[in-house]
Amino acid sequence: MQVLSVLVERATRSLDRPFAYAYEGKRKVGERCRVKCSFGPKTLIGFVIHVREYDGSLEELQNELGFEVKLISEEDIVDEEPLLSEGLFELAKEVASYYMAPLVSVLQAMLPPSLSPRSSSLRAPKVAYDYYVEAIDSKEDGLTPKQIEMLRLLLRGTLRKKEAGSPSVLKALIEKKKARLVKKERMRFEIPEREKEVPHEMTFEQKCAYEGIVSCPKEVVLLQGVTGSGKTEVYLRLSEHCLSIGRKVLMLVPEINLTPAMVDYFSRRFGKRIAILHSELTPGERYDEYRRIARGEADIVVGARSAVFAPISNLGLIILDEEHVESYKQDNAPHYHAREVAIMRGRREGAKVVLGSATPSLETRSRAMRGVYGYFEMPHRVNERPLPRTEIVDLRAPGTMGKESSKLSRPLIAKIREKLEKGEQVLLLINRRGYWTGVNCPKCGHLFKCPECGGNLVYHFQDRLLKCHHCGHVELFPDRCPECGNPALRRVGYGTERLEEETKALFPTARVARLDSDVARSAARLEKLVRAFKNREFDILIGTQMVAKGHDFPYLSLAAVALADIGLALPGYRSAERTFELIAQAVGRAGRALIPGEALIQTYNPTHYAIVDGARQDYLSFYEKEMKERKLSRFPPYVYLIAVELSGEDENRLYECALAFADLLRSKELSATRVIGPIIPYMAKREGLFRRSILIKFKKREDVEGSLRDAIKRYQAVPGLRIDVDVDPLDF
Ligand code: ADP
Ligand code: ZN
Repeated sequence: MQVLSVLVERATRSLDRPFAYAYEGKRKVGERCRVKCSFGPKTLIGFVIHVREYDGSLEELQNELGFEVKLISEEDIVDEEPLLSEGLFELAKEVASYYMAPLVSVLQAMLPPSLSPRSSSLRAPKVAYDYYVEAIDSKEDGLTPKQIEMLRLLLRGTLRKKEAGSPSVLKALIEKKKARLVKKERMRFEIPEREKEVPHEMTFEQKCAYEGIVSCPKEVVLLQGVTGSGKTEVYLRLSEHCLSIGRKVLMLVPEINLTPAMVDYFSRRFGKRIAILHSELTPGERYDEYRRIARGEADIVVGARSAVFAPISNLGLIILDEEHVESYKQDNAPHYHAREVAIMRGRREGAKVVLGSATPSLETRSRAMRGVYGYFEMPHRVNERPLPRTEIVDLRAPGTMGKESSKLSRPLIAKIREKLEKGEQVLLLINRRGYWTGVNCPKCGHLFKCPECGGNLVYHFQDRLLKCHHCGHVELFPDRCPECGNPALRRVGYGTERLEEETKALFPTARVARLDSDVARSAARLEKLVRAFKNREFDILIGTQMVAKGHDFPYLSLAAVALADIGLALPGYRSAERTFELIAQAVGRAGRALIPGEALIQTYNPTHYAIVDGARQDYLSFYEKEMKERKLSRFPPYVYLIAVELSGEDENRLYECALAFADLLRSKELSATRVIGPIIPYMAKREGLFRRSILIKFKKREDVEGSLRDAIKRYQAVPGLRIDVDVDPLDF
């Protein structure tokens, strides 16, 4: 008989330990494979972490252990071969421990859907189909606002199922005979054959960076190169070097929509042995790519966040492009950051980790300055192309705004005209979707707030609905105030939709396109729009930060930020850093090829350092000022943070628990640690649950880890209380 130690699929803290099962069958059962196991009244998927031989009978085993041991039969075995290498399993344990997350939640984040230890994996298809949704009835009778939102979206055109949004809303629409599913077999994913390109001759700076990184003894290096300095070429050369010594490469990009461009670069240089791994592939494709990588058939893997767990053996190099981008961190549990995981993985497997950015995160830059990481810089653009000339327009100054527009200033309108006349392209950025950003009643003061989370509701013109950008709540736009009946509601602020409308009116002959997450509901659509803009099918592109990142538009000569202050008004210790990055990235989009670039920033805070330094792309100046701020306010990189979020249905009970939880931590507080809260977070409610947050600031992890684990253990037993731990949170 064999005794199996099994983790079950429920990612809750109280079940975060192995359970014993007995197995007497003949079929081989191995470690790191899935089994079906009965757990209470249910059958769950389990992940075998250990197998040991046992000489006695089931009865003897039960006597020895002191509890009932259930049997697993031969039919319960799901996998013949281990899903993970031993090395990756060890990495999973390290990640779970660092992020204080249940081990099974890390395994679920690591493995593609059809191999994941969860029941739904057994239904995940291995053949790829695309499901499309089409509207069949436009009448909105008997629908909820969410259902209306989806119907209005579908009426604008058939969508792929995964672009449509919430599966439960879709299901309801199908049941109400408003929409139907259409199934089509999907063409297998293949990287198109590319003509091999002749590599660029490296510039002097590229050469120094390349040679320096290759010979640098540090495990992790920061490559800081201004936008347009040619970091990609350095990545390609480093990859070439890594392949030449017989090892493999993992190339990470911060967002799925940046993978096609990166795959392009790599396939033109290295041909076919490239695999792609990200969450927008179908389960079938991910399964195929995952197995192909595991079989050792790919030398280079390109992917977004979760690709950091790609089953590559003999890994020699991990590159993270745009290491500062926040999407490298997973929003929900286990809340891992691909950069930190890459560093853990690099250390375990002896792979070099290269972090690339024009505007590194303060954490990374300060570690590089302290000599923890190697540091290489490329301060000039390729061929000394000048950085864009940038103008800051003070929106408060009299005469700045003309009669023509309340959003685009006179200098901006003049600049856009000039560029259009020359046949050049313009990028217009506003980091907010929608039409009006707020609605209120001037008579009684009623504010349209989200009933779910307390956030501001934004009016979306295209589907005529009020939406919450924090939690996704939608409601119909009423014709009068729900409190006093006043029909003259005040509409304030603007987002991409209204800016698009106004721009079209101001420049009637220009071809204007909008790009935000309402338009680009999938990576494929986004890629299409970006390509169209590159091919000069539009003159003006209006968008959110989505367009500021990474793309290379050769005919773009003006990048403008319509309102630079949006980010500064948001809460959080990183608001200045986010604002600086956004502006610096936007400015960096202009004039990357032959035409000299210009940038223009409209703001109500023309002297704020995040805006001034962002406009000048003066990273160093920003870094020094922001480091001082962080030191004063005691935030990273001067301290570490762990945020604990407690949530529950009963607000009073939650409040008591949160207070007691924080007190328990405080009672063991050491001099270098601080416990803040419980506070009510910006989003006070989520998914019907009230929330409270506690923030722990500390210098040494061992000062807080024990007491935090004790407190979690104590409170995870409270019925109805949910505990979410976020190590190194980006928001607070
Ligand atoms: P970054 O990622 O640092 O912002 P890119 O890697 O996108 O910059 O390079 C900017 C531009 O410079 C690209 O159009 C690229 O083709 C070009 N480029 C890069 N290296 C060289 C080189 N050595 N010689 C000529 N052009 C180069
Ligand atoms: Zn909300």
